Amino acid sequence: MPAMKYVSFAFFILVVSCKIQQPQSTPKPDPEVHEQTIQFDITSPDIPVVEIADSVEIRIHRLLPDYVRIMGVGDLMIGTNFPNPKYLPPDSGNSILSFVADSLKLADVTFGNLEGVILNEGGTPKNCKNPEKCYVFRMPEYMVQNFKNAGFNLLSVANNHSGDFGEEGRVSTSNLLTQAEIHFAGFDTKPYTIFKKGHLRYGFAAFAPNKGTASINDIETARNIVAHLDSLVDIIIISFHGGAEGKSFEHVTRETEFFYGENRGNVYEFSHALVDAGADIIFGHGPHVVRAIEIYKNRFIAYSLGNFSTYARFNLRGPNAFAPIIDLQVSSSGEFLSGKIISAIQTGLGIPKIDSQNRAALRIKELSEIDFPEAEIIVESSGVISYIQQ
Ligand SMILES: [Zn+2]
Repeated sequence: MPAMKYVSFAFFILVVSCKIQQPQSTPKPDPEVHEQTIQFDITSPDIPVVEIADSVEIRIHRLLPDYVRIMGVGDLMIGTNFPNPKYLPPDSGNSILSFVADSLKLADVTFGNLEGVILNEGGTPKNCKNPEKCYVFRMPEYMVQNFKNAGFNLLSVANNHSGDFGEEGRVSTSNLLTQAEIHFAGFDTKPYTIFKKGHLRYGFAAFAPNKGTASINDIETARNIVAHLDSLVDIIIISFHGGAEGKSFEHVTRETEFFYGENRGNVYEFSHALVDAGADIIFGHGPHVVRAIEIYKNRFIAYSLGNFSTYARFNLRGPNAFAPIIDLQVSSSGEFLSGKIISAIQTGLGIPKIDSQNRAALRIKELSEIDFPEAEIIVESSGVISYIQQ
């Protein structure tokens, strides 16, 4: 038998990907195209020999999805063992986030504001004359798993409670979140973090007016952080804990707000300055009630997400119980594509459940129409956010 003759075809297929979104001002490597080389045999005894070889190389450029889904909620304090374990939920908190977990888990990135410390015991509690009236929050360590199980993979620690138990509280919280692979930032020692999820790189920074946190009032430093992140990542998410508190302060004033004698920032100026510097999504919280949303330069801003799951120690009357989940689809460079406000509402002592009356979305719709009448944004009663791109 003559030797089998093998034919080789050298294929080199170059697929040029079509990038739909405009690149950001800073040039970055294209994150959407991943290259893969596959080797396989092609044999044919009937074709004259061209060259002896036994493999064909094909390069395939795989187009990855050009959008990601990012969700954000407001304050999370799912039970405290200080001053008394009676402020802890039953069954180790396993069910406290379970009614909303199916929604939260659908996102690539799910954000919330961690309004307290994760620490089993000890630490140096903030000075309180009467511990029963002292609102300092120490969530036991097992609660990290409750956040994880509910889909949270990004938390802010820039708020007025992350220093409730001094340095021990900060160290414990940082270690436990790191072990659980939940990304976080907002301490003055760690104002931002960078992480990769899927094929994209994210930058996250968090700000507040409180000691030990990255300052919402130092806009120049905040801008520099965002500009630095913009040179390194695809999507920048910003958290702020700012503005006055309560249902008398639902509006975005576009001015500096003071509360309890503290400068709580000018959340409008802060948000716009950071979008100008390259931020893509801004999740605000702090007032314990919801505020307007806005889209500025194709970037999404929520001025307050209110409370989300704030157990036993919080006023949950009226609008304080509204617990929106902001559900966004953004491009791989962070531009707003579509969004929805999923309305949840806190029940009992602070258990969020999906709200068939859609109250969070309806209130955000009203506030957005009043505070940003000029905006090309429509919040439908269903919570769907429509935007006519400028
Ligand atoms: Zn707060």
